[in-house]
Amino acid sequence: MKKRLELIDFQKGIISGNRAILSQAITLVESTLDSDQELASQLVQSLITHSGKSIRIGITGVPGVGKSTFIEAFGKMLLDLGKKVAVLAIDPSSQLTKGSILGDKTRMENLAADKRAFIRPSPSGTTLGGVSGKTREAMLLCEAAGFDVILVETVGVGQSETAVKNMVDFFLLLMLAGAGDELQGIKKGIMEMADALLIHKADGENIEPAKKAKVNYQNALHLLPNAEKNWNPKVLLASSTTGLGLEKAWELISQYKDAMTENGFWETNRATQRINWLDYQVQFLLGQAFNRDPVILKILEAEKPKVRSGALNPGTLAKSLIQIFLSKK
Ligand code: GDP
Repeated sequence: MKKRLELIDFQKGIISGNRAILSQAITLVESTLDSDQELASQLVQSLITHSGKSIRIGITGVPGVGKSTFIEAFGKMLLDLGKKVAVLAIDPSSQLTKGSILGDKTRMENLAADKRAFIRPSPSGTTLGGVSGKTREAMLLCEAAGFDVILVETVGVGQSETAVKNMVDFFLLLMLAGAGDELQGIKKGIMEMADALLIHKADGENIEPAKKAKVNYQNALHLLPNAEKNWNPKVLLASSTTGLGLEKAWELISQYKDAMTENGFWETNRATQRINWLDYQVQFLLGQAFNRDPVILKILEAEKPKVRSGALNPGTLAKSLIQIFLSKK
């Protein structure tokens, strides 16, 4: 049996950049056992001064747009530039099917094989809220282990973008040049969140449509300037097959970092994100404690049929449950 690691083992292992221990630490952070959560919380707090030094990049796009291929090619290029790269995934897996949109196949094998890279496959079957909270802590652990670029991957299908946007410095949306109306199929809300759009698979026959799409998106994005940080989202062409645009994408992200550091947005944004995380954690932990309380569970079980049939007002029951929950503390 594997020896159970103590706080000090985790700390030493992570600071020395040990990927196996980093991986175990993330498993600890993801655990729902109370004893693990306590240790995880101590660990993250103890490493806080070692974290925060990376560039955090969110990468999103619909399944099939080429996220994993892009991350592999882009990550490899960053390694060649001397960076250490960690990849984390947020997967809004369906609770119903326990399926994983990002896929259970082994992904990004070449990148994973390199010692200067760390890839964490996404846990499947967990609630989005839980995963995003854990992903943020996993990100801090990767930073403490010396990874200086963190790529957070998510699927462009719903709420997960907002969760990712709230934990990264730069948000990159991957798109394809489509036939017909190029602006179709992408929600305006997601485009508004993006710091850059990357029209992917711009190779072979796709090059011309991709160039056209670039002009269209550029015009559309002109209508969405971000005054708060004084940044107009940019549109790039890229191909992970030919390598086109990968260096440009990194240049743009570096320019963004410099500009935001200079105008103060970099730090303000991170400060806001920390406060949002606090709010989120309070809600999450309260919800967890409530949903595990045996007295509450018993009353819920007894009263749910009345709510279901319409005889009992859900708001009335919720209020009395919370009163009972709070009076027990
Ligand atoms: P994901 O679902 O967004 O992670 O997409 P994948 O990375 O799995 O890629 C989906 C498909 O697109 C695969 O068949 C890839 O080989 C292909 N693909 C990925 N990147 C490129 C690219 O730059 N050019 C072309 N032509 N195909 C690509």
